[in-house]
Amino acid sequence: FAPWEDPTAVPLIRFEGVTKKFGTFTAIDNLNLKIYRGEFFALLGPSGCGKTTLMRMLAGFETPTEGAIWLDGQNVAPIPPNKRPVNMMFQSYALFPHLSVWENIAFGLKRSDMPKEQIGERVQEMLRLTRLEQFAKRKPHQISGGQRQRVALARSLAKAPKLLLLDEPLGALDKKLRQETQFELMDIQEKTGTTFVIVTHDQEEAMTVATRVAVMDHGKLIQVATPAGIYETPNSVYVADFIGEVNIFEGAARRISEEMVEIDYAEGKAPLRAVTAEALAPGQKVFLAVRPEKILVSHEPPHERANEVKGKIVDIAYLGNISTYRVRLETGQMVSAQMTNAKRLARRDFTWEDEVWLSWTETAGVVLTR
Ligand code: ATP
Repeated sequence: FAPWEDPTAVPLIRFEGVTKKFGTFTAIDNLNLKIYRGEFFALLGPSGCGKTTLMRMLAGFETPTEGAIWLDGQNVAPIPPNKRPVNMMFQSYALFPHLSVWENIAFGLKRSDMPKEQIGERVQEMLRLTRLEQFAKRKPHQISGGQRQRVALARSLAKAPKLLLLDEPLGALDKKLRQETQFELMDIQEKTGTTFVIVTHDQEEAMTVATRVAVMDHGKLIQVATPAGIYETPNSVYVADFIGEVNIFEGAARRISEEMVEIDYAEGKAPLRAVTAEALAPGQKVFLAVRPEKILVSHEPPHERANEVKGKIVDIAYLGNISTYRVRLETGQMVSAQMTNAKRLARRDFTWEDEVWLSWTETAGVVLTR
């Protein structure tokens, strides 16, 4: 049972009707959100959507214009940043260049009232956690970018905060190291049980590390769900389009059975079919969202499938494990389809300008009303 599915679970963080204005500009708009202990929670959205503002309010660098933020049962409004059980790790993880790894990690502890021996033990524990024991004496310029990243993490976890905020923590790393570090972050988060909230532009990163993802737009939460929930059951065209690639077929819906609708998406074409429980008015405009990997490309019509549309291949991108086909339908719409290459030799190959059928089942698409 995940805590967010348990109505009796007590959240670590609760945003209650939080609005943040800068002058007349509303950066956060009447936002409600619960984050639970032990979560790795990702805030995702385009530049300017308010992710950083939300995080800065948790840290105490900004105060809400309206509403309340509760942290572990306490209204944090009157608590200054340095008195909150919260730490923040920044993208530009400013380590002290003249201090060793050991001293960097110990820095915050020395300024607290922790006894000396205990500081030593705690630093050792952090070095072990982040696999930096052999680098304790080195200066930041004598270790790699990935190792510096781990020092920053060790330093921000040393005082055992209840909540660690990560602001684009891996932005400075190249792709491969970034992916490795994501798994390390997950591992360390799990071992310490600390609640992590991460701000990122990178949807793949959010999907990799997070227990739940919040997709934001213009200061509002559009959807909060697990990575699989966000990808497979987006609640809007905005979310479907923001996470991964998607094809949208727009048209008037007509319910033909308790579970199935037909969508008239283009004049003179057979309607598309989709399974949905959504309450729809007759003729209501809907959007059928179909992921590229759900679409089969074939030279002959595959009659067993519910939805078939015809078109011509205009682009093929070979990406190693998969190939992506861009197909212009007879209606003029461009559709993206994706197939794995592992079994490709078993099929006839496709080339540019080929006339093809695209098909998908009635459960492959998601019917959206906004
Ligand atoms: P990015 O990914 O680019 O960092 P973001 O989603 O984190 O974007 P925020 O930094 O939260 O966005 O900013 C949200 C909006 O609030 C932006 O339009 C920004 O210009 C505005 N804003 C943020 N801080 C201030 C401020 N101190 N004064 C005025 N406007 C601000």
